[in-house]
Order: sequence, then C-alpha cells, then structure tokens
Amino acid sequence: MPEPRWRDVARAAGLLRPDGAVASTIFAEMTALATRTGAANLGQGFPDVDGPEHIREAAAAYLREGPNQYAPGPGVPELRSAVAAHQRRHYGLEVDPEREVLVTVGATEAIASAILALVAPGDEVLTLEPFYDSYAATIALTGATHRTLPLRPATEGFRLDPEDVAAAFTDRTRVLLLNSPHNPTGTVLGREQLALLAEQAVAHDVVVVTDEVYEHLTYGPDGREHENLHVPIATLPGMAERTVTISSSGKTLSFTGWKVGWLHGPAELVTAIRTVKQFLTYVGPGALQRAIAGALEDTDGRTGAYVADLRASLRRRRDVLAEVLRDVGFAPLTPAGTYFLVADAAPLGWDDAVELCRQMPERAGVVAIPITAFCTPGSATAGSLRSWVRFTFVKSMPVLEQAAAGLPRLRR
Ligand SMILES: *Cc1c(COP(=O)(O)O)cnc(C)c1O
Repeated sequence: MPEPRWRDVARAAGLLRPDGAVASTIFAEMTALATRTGAANLGQGFPDVDGPEHIREAAAAYLREGPNQYAPGPGVPELRSAVAAHQRRHYGLEVDPEREVLVTVGATEAIASAILALVAPGDEVLTLEPFYDSYAATIALTGATHRTLPLRPATEGFRLDPEDVAAAFTDRTRVLLLNSPHNPTGTVLGREQLALLAEQAVAHDVVVVTDEVYEHLTYGPDGREHENLHVPIATLPGMAERTVTISSSGKTLSFTGWKVGWLHGPAELVTAIRTVKQFLTYVGPGALQRAIAGALEDTDGRTGAYVADLRASLRRRRDVLAEVLRDVGFAPLTPAGTYFLVADAAPLGWDDAVELCRQMPERAGVVAIPITAFCTPGSATAGSLRSWVRFTFVKSMPVLEQAAAGLPRLRR
C-alpha cells in the first residue's frame, strides 16, 4: 500500500527519523533554544517591529465597518487592481486585474496552490538549492520529483553555473519554482542569470512559478540603485506567457502575520490555480485585503516612504551584522536583498554548522540556522555548504548588539 502523503512531506522536509517518529523542524528547535537561553534570535525571519500604523488603522476601520463576510473568490477587486497597477508601475508588466490576478493567504498558499494545480505525479519540479523550506514539502504533496539547481558561492555572491542550468532541465521538467531575491542566500538574480533560466524554460516548455516576496527589499551597490535591482523573470522576452509571479505584503510592509499574498499570470494558468485554491482556504480576510490594497496604491505617499526607510534601515543592519561576523572570523557574503545573510563558519574552525547552531545559544547567546536546513538531505549542495550558517538582520539594533557582544565567544 502506498504511504499516506504526510510521510512524504515529513521525509522531504528531513523530519522522518529512522524509527518512524517525526522530528520537529530546526526552526522550532532553535526557537525553543532561544526562549530557554534568552539568546538573540537571528533564526526565524520576521521583523520585531510591526508595519506602519496608518495601515493598521485602515485595517481596524475595515474590521469595524466591514467587509466582514467571505471576500470574492479571486480576492477583493481593490486589491486585484492595486496588484495590476503595482506591476505596471514598477516593471511595465500589463496585467488584467479581472482574469490574471488571484489573492491568496500569503505567498505560501500561492506557492502551494500553483504547484498542486500545475504538476502531476512523475513530473519534475526544479528549484534552486538551497531553497525556501516550504518548497520541498509542497512538491512532495504532488507526487512529483524535486530536482535542484545549485547556487554556488563565489567571492561576489552566489551564482548559477550555465552548465548546471543546462543539465538541470529535462523532458520531464514541468515547473521551475524560482525565488529571487533569494531566501536563504540573499542573492538577487540579475538579467543575465535569469536569461539562462528563461532560455531553458522556453526550450523545455516549462512553466515558471516565481516567488518574489522580497522584491522591494534589495540593496544596490550605491544607495540609489536598489529600486531597479530586482528583475521579475516575467519581464524577459517570451516569459510573461509562461510565468506565474507571486508576492506578498508580509515582507514588504512588515505584516508577516496578516498573510495577504497574491499571484498573477496568464488567465489560463490563474484559472487552473484558482480551481485548486478555492478548496484550500477558499478566501482570506477581506478587511485585511482592503487595507493592503490602499497601501499598495499609496507608493508615493506614506507607504512608499515607509518601504524606502525600511530598505535603508535593513541595509544598515545588514552592514552591522556583516562586520561583526567578519571581525569574529566568519566569511560572510554580503546579500543584495532579503532579510538574510549567510556566512561560512569554516574559517572560524567550525566545519559542521548544525553542531555550531546547536551550541551557539549557550556559547554566544545567538540563534541562527544551518544552511543545510534549506537543502535536500544528503545532497551534494548540502555537503558543499555544510559549514554555512544563515543569520537574519531584520531585528532591532539592541538585539543585533546583543549578538555582537556574544559572537566573539565562538572564536577557538
Ligand atoms: C516568508 C517567505 C514566504 C512566505 O510568505 P507569506 O506571505 O508569509 O506566506 C514565501 N517565500 C519566501 C522566500 C519567504 O521568505
């Protein structure tokens, strides 16, 4: 008899122990350690300050006055229009808010419903490796095979190797589940790197599902360039017709708990995804969707100023953390986007980041996540990144200062 699907999910997430028991995730383990030891939690990536008050006030007003009953299946019209306008304003993408936008319960539901809708057992789904932790588990729900394409560390950051890209696509590749700006490495794939992927996607008739939740959190080499750093793969020639683009208000506006996300793409694909999505959550809260719609429309006003300030402040916090890590003896790579910075602990004498992360709370008062938590268990990429650690810098300065005070104790 085939096994129930939860076992495939547990196995894909590296949680199935040899005795058949289910282990807790490294995130749960590390958060428990942080709570027990009072360590600075640079593990899980969520802001310790909530998003703008004027958006919270708007949400409160909508909760008081309504809408408080089921939102329309595709999402409130105001948010669908705001998403289409946002894509035109920032990237020149023409999106029909009626037929080509779907509001979801966070990017997570957008990813899950897209993969469940578009993939069949026996297909291959390709992701970068390392990858965001929901991807392997979601692919396991479909019975498809998860194949990966390594991001390789180089002095200037993580890169795709053209030979790896050519080898990763096969006749069975159905979907490329892409992520840029990339969690966990902070890589922002440039036009040249994206073109390698686009070429293969066209050659193999692959649908690209792209997770762009950090689209506005990018840090260019000089302070002014960040606005143009993120390139949606849908803007490359021939790609709009085969790309589903996913984003969310969680990271851009510091409301990770609201779970207001969305996707857009060709009407045919969006219809297929909506067919599945309506039987997952049906819809998310309309009041929160209305509040986010107002915020997205207001990019020249208070919301735009908030995002610009957040970006500048994250850039400063990134630099503080990178300098501390470098001083201590880690080899950090400066990320061009996201909440995260990854660093090699090998120069410090730690070859096994899992062991280091288990000891770090007691020894240094800091919690972080080994990069192997974002790799296929036992893969070549997991082997080559065995000594790498992910730290988040989306924490207040006092928390980063606490980490800075403790990290030197890791020297040995
Ligand atoms: C946080 C995150 C998500 C989840 O987004 P939600 O809107 O909270 O569901 C998806 N992808 C990546 C890469 C993330 O870092």
